[in-house]
Amino acid sequence: MTIDLKDLHRDMTAWRHDLHAHPEFGFEEKRTSSFVAAKLLEFNLDGVAEGVGGTGVVGTLKRGTGNRAIALRADMDALRINEQGDHAHRSQNPGVMHACGHDGHTAMLLGAARILAQEGGFDGTVHFIFQPAEEWGKGALAMLDDGLLQRFPFEEIYGLHNLPGLPVGHFETRAGAIMSAEDNFEIVLKGVGGHAARPHWGNEVLVAACALVTSLQTIVSRRLSPTDVGVVSVTELITDGTRNALPGLARILGDARSFHPKISATIEKQMRTIAEGIALAHNVTAEVTYTREFIPLLNDAILVEEAFAAARTVFDPGEVRVADEPMTGSEDFARFLQHVPGVFAFVGNGRDSAPLHNPQFDFNDQGLLDGARFHAAIVRQRLPPSA
Ligand SMILES: [Zn+2]
Ligand SMILES: [Zn+2]
Repeated sequence: MTIDLKDLHRDMTAWRHDLHAHPEFGFEEKRTSSFVAAKLLEFNLDGVAEGVGGTGVVGTLKRGTGNRAIALRADMDALRINEQGDHAHRSQNPGVMHACGHDGHTAMLLGAARILAQEGGFDGTVHFIFQPAEEWGKGALAMLDDGLLQRFPFEEIYGLHNLPGLPVGHFETRAGAIMSAEDNFEIVLKGVGGHAARPHWGNEVLVAACALVTSLQTIVSRRLSPTDVGVVSVTELITDGTRNALPGLARILGDARSFHPKISATIEKQMRTIAEGIALAHNVTAEVTYTREFIPLLNDAILVEEAFAAARTVFDPGEVRVADEPMTGSEDFARFLQHVPGVFAFVGNGRDSAPLHNPQFDFNDQGLLDGARFHAAIVRQRLPPSA
């Protein structure tokens, strides 16, 4: 039975507003995951598993006799931001808001589940994955560690994110790197603080810290190839000094982005070398802690063409484009792509949209139906019904 798209859009908008008004932080998505599971049960899916990787939900739908399986993924978590918008569906949880549009992504995937459950049009298995804690970069791993691939095996995975600045009705992605790795670092310098008037009696750390901040800028400019892409940003410099006392302790914190594990490794290695050298030159000690929060997101080249073909059946073909360049934002979806090939793509949230993670941001409801229909289209294309 063909679904009434106008009815579906009205329902999806209501779900999205409900989710937006009740945002929950990563791994605390209790209401959200109950909402999702209740909808999936209402659509008569073949299976609905809750509590996968904490607060994750997986819905499973089977049609025909095919033994191929693909996964579609949405994220459910919100951010610790105080919403400033004044629309009727604004956040009712002070200090938490859907500032990244994960309410919209969840509603789009629910819409796809309803279309495919009601209309079918494919042969095989679809897993609808609703992941927790994307913003932490921890939710995908939590689901994988909870046996996602063994319990719900699939061969390909697809995900969508909204993109402010891109008009509604536009679709973009690209083969290879599309979202960056995010590494975090902390460098602790230790010396001997003392009187501001007698620096030679101790080994203060501030001059060393300033030299180190400056030298870290040579990693990208002098250690990476001009064709490699990377960013090293020092975001904090904190000392225990005060007006007339030189510090004996300094902490330098920051964030590095890149699109290849090899570049991330080079950045870490050079950071350690520079920190040791500067510390030695200033007679202080340096301790470097370097962590990888997100890995680069690499789209499969062949499946990207499949995604474009599916998108052209939903969007105006003239508005389905190859993204000009990768983005230096990061995405937890990359963890799934370490195990199976797949595609992460962007749908427009409008030219006038506030930026992601901005207190004025709101997902654009006009894009809901396109997203749900793209999810359904890629399933039908990759799991075609047998003739
Ligand atoms: Zn985000
Ligand atoms: Zn996001």
